[in-house]
Amino acid sequence: MQSLPKKYNFAEIERKWQQKWEEMGIYHFDWNDTHRPSYSIDTPPPYPSGEFHMGNILNWTYFDIVARYMRMRGYNVLFPQGWDCHGLSIEIQVEKEQKIRKRDAPPDQFRKWCEQLIERYIALMKDSILKLGCSIDWTTEYRTMDPDYWRRTQLSFILLHKKGYMYQGTHPVNWCPRCETAIADAEVDYEKRQGALHYIRFPLEGTSEHLLIATSRPEFIPACVAVEVNPEDERFNKYIGKSIVVPVVNRTVKIIADEAVDPSFGTGVVMICTYGDKEDVKTVMKHKLPVIRLLTDNGRINKNGYKYSGLTINQARKTIVEDLEASGLLKKVEQLPQEVGVCDRCKTHVEILEHKQWFMKTRTLTNEVEKTANKVVWYPDYMKMRLIDWTKSLDWDWVISRQRVFATPIPVWYCKNCGELILAEEEWVPIDPKLENPRISECPKCGSRDFIPERDVFDTWMDSSITCAVHAGWPDREDWKRLFPADVHPSGIDIIRTWAYYLMVRHLALFGETPYKSCLINGMVLGSDGRKMSKSLKNYVAAPEVLGKYGSDATRQWAAGGGATGSDIPFRWPDVEYGRRFLLKLWNVSSFANKLLSDYKPVYAEAVTLEPLDKWILSKAENLTQKVTEAFEKCQFNIVVEEIRNFTWHVFCDYYVEVIKDKLYNPDVYGPAKKLAAQYTLYEVLYRVLQLLAPMTPHLTEEIYQFMYAEDKGFESLQISPWPEYNPELGNEAVEKNGDFIMAIISAVRQDKAEKKLPLNAPGKTIDIYSASEETANLINSVREDLAGTLKIVNIRVHPEKRCDIKQISPYDVYFQIEY
Ligand SMILES: [Zn+2]
Ligand SMILES: [Zn+2]
Repeated sequence: MQSLPKKYNFAEIERKWQQKWEEMGIYHFDWNDTHRPSYSIDTPPPYPSGEFHMGNILNWTYFDIVARYMRMRGYNVLFPQGWDCHGLSIEIQVEKEQKIRKRDAPPDQFRKWCEQLIERYIALMKDSILKLGCSIDWTTEYRTMDPDYWRRTQLSFILLHKKGYMYQGTHPVNWCPRCETAIADAEVDYEKRQGALHYIRFPLEGTSEHLLIATSRPEFIPACVAVEVNPEDERFNKYIGKSIVVPVVNRTVKIIADEAVDPSFGTGVVMICTYGDKEDVKTVMKHKLPVIRLLTDNGRINKNGYKYSGLTINQARKTIVEDLEASGLLKKVEQLPQEVGVCDRCKTHVEILEHKQWFMKTRTLTNEVEKTANKVVWYPDYMKMRLIDWTKSLDWDWVISRQRVFATPIPVWYCKNCGELILAEEEWVPIDPKLENPRISECPKCGSRDFIPERDVFDTWMDSSITCAVHAGWPDREDWKRLFPADVHPSGIDIIRTWAYYLMVRHLALFGETPYKSCLINGMVLGSDGRKMSKSLKNYVAAPEVLGKYGSDATRQWAAGGGATGSDIPFRWPDVEYGRRFLLKLWNVSSFANKLLSDYKPVYAEAVTLEPLDKWILSKAENLTQKVTEAFEKCQFNIVVEEIRNFTWHVFCDYYVEVIKDKLYNPDVYGPAKKLAAQYTLYEVLYRVLQLLAPMTPHLTEEIYQFMYAEDKGFESLQISPWPEYNPELGNEAVEKNGDFIMAIISAVRQDKAEKKLPLNAPGKTIDIYSASEETANLINSVREDLAGTLKIVNIRVHPEKRCDIKQISPYDVYFQIEY
């Protein structure tokens, strides 16, 4: 056995093992291995934002713990890593850096800038993932912006188009006027903003009467297409079918009836505009009302706004309110706190615009999604309702086209002459229709040879929602079904509605099968003040700072132990510090054991005769193994951390190691058999602790393993040592009960010494122990030597009587006094 170095230098140890594991190739998924069962992790490819934050640390720690644990369980683990490159946020960042709007730059140039920025961001994030010590198989690394990945996105579109899931339509969609693109429901965030409710008089045509309408969006008055009231509302139902004048633009519209109008909200009279909100969309469809499009794609009033044309939405609101006031039609304005939908990338108020778009039929899959979600195993279980509720809440199909540059092209052309849609053949992809014509000589319908490319591109989620199949090797590997569905899809609570959902609908539609067998959900990381961690709240901590200060193993303990799986966990420096103190304790106890074992040659269990306290700690270690294994199986990582730290620190170090010290220092007193039993036990229990900790704190445990165990145990790395099986022969309740009692005596004596301000190793002459139970006396007699050695007390006398007037060995009905 080699000696451990004196100092625990985490930075050096972690760097060393990260490199060595890579060289050993233990992270490689072996495609040719048909012997071990396989286990696949659907690592969600992150958006490269250039910043690895504490939330990412939490995600990747979970992924990596699962990967390392399953490897030790004997699985051939696929832990892939990709990068979800496309997206609005990158385009916005490039626009800022280059001080240019994307439509003012040649698309090729703009794309190149995006790619360069992404590579910079990937490098930064990758550095943190490596420093965290994630056991990723880097031979699987991919980027969704590479044409080879487009191929998969485009192929999945072609297949779904052939199955009838893809269609084009002119429908109202969520639209970000700043980003000038359609966005999906999942990309709309909701923010509380202060709005105002305007009470406006709408004159009834041909009379001097008017109806009062309350609206928070007066700028939409030029797009008013109807006014509605509840048919049961006796104040207004006499006006149904009459005409009413739309102020400012002086058109008339009809007053219609709809039971959906809430007479108690506002004034009970509602104006329908195209489109002020989603309710307007429903009403327009229901009553087949005309649509007046009021906004341009970049959020200005168009020619339908008459004199307001050219104004921004905010300018138009101001001017229209002024005009209403001037004409005496504005009665009053009230403050109104509102929840408004905003673009999740740029926080601009989302509008609803009619646009020709590509859609995927997702609502037809709602029942299937619910059924499948119920079959998937969720960690924790209640998270499945988030997916089911989201599915059921969707009003519209998924709009999959975007009006952007940096994205996967939609592989479609149109015949210039007859408009016929030409879908790319499966063998043509990857293809950019803007750069290449369809590989046919003429339009199959009219024979024309002129084609117009589709200029819209795919929503980024179209790239990232096929990863379960892509990671498994689809469409290139014939045996891809071997790794499909993925064994686990790990994800954040905030993206269940996107990631878990889109994966589900895409794969169900494509393959008729669930994409993942289980879903592991992590919560959000909060600042130390309990609020969501964010730079603007000044409670933000960057991951490289934490990793630099405390290293990976301590940081991983914070992530795994910070709270129950799925719950939000706060970031607190003292928690990471506590993790480091635990590692230091483990290092020190290993270093001490290393010395105590310097003359130990590992032996089999059959070669030793165990003493009661050896049996006690071995039984505790078995029970720990059972509890920790169970917690790993249920992804309850906080329980794993808590159980192992408690056992190691407060049972193994504080008691067992203390008790055997004397035995190993003075073998002549105890005899060689007892020494060997203690050494055997120390050696095996420490090994068990290292193994159980290996998925959580891989670096330090590997370092200790290599010095103390590698030669004897023979595994190239602790990471590929087989996970310990619970041994029921060693787990013994009676043995533990007895041992716990002995520990209570030690603890009581320690406390007594502390109260008398004596050092722990202060010698004593006699301890008198009083107990009416014969069992107690027998038990103490069986460990007399150990007790005397540990307590440094010469005489131990047990009296068969009860004396309540002296100190108690809590919680037992046993009492004692010491003569020092
Ligand atoms: Zn936006
Ligand atoms: Zn044609």
